[in-house]
Amino acid sequence: MSPRLSKAVQYVLIGGMLAAALALMALKVVLPPDERSIDAIIVHCTATPLGRAVTVDDIDRWHKARGWKGIGYHYVVDLEGKVHAGRPLDQTGAHCLGHNAHSIGVCYVGGLDAQGRPADTRTPEQKEAIRKLIGMLQKKYPNAKVYGHRHFNNTACPCFDADSEYGTP
Ligand SMILES: [Zn+2]
Repeated sequence: MSPRLSKAVQYVLIGGMLAAALALMALKVVLPPDERSIDAIIVHCTATPLGRAVTVDDIDRWHKARGWKGIGYHYVVDLEGKVHAGRPLDQTGAHCLGHNAHSIGVCYVGGLDAQGRPADTRTPEQKEAIRKLIGMLQKKYPNAKVYGHRHFNNTACPCFDADSEYGTP
């Protein structure tokens, strides 16, 4: 093989590798969203005072005002314990800095007392609903462990010890 030809072969090889890398990157972008590998369910609160009703639409507006594409949580549990869908499960959430790609964000309405201090304001209905929701999610994502937001970021959220209450030992 002449040196000139071998140079050409090298270019073809490098070109091929580049094309393969680009194809892989493109694949990552178009992979079905269900391919998100979920290893964490992260519990949040809305950080709103005891008894104040907050809707998915409210949170959607707040999060859009922050420049996000909409509500950052995947589920919201209202004061009555009703579970509302937020951001679709197959989309990366916006709820826990540095841990969104591999997690599901679950948020209950409340988390502050009447004076605005962090407090576990969960109603019995919310407690039951969160437990059921986590159970359902863990069936879908058997590798997912449960954490409170404060496990990862410097925050009081979700204003109770979710790691020990819902977490996997
Ligand atoms: Zn939070």
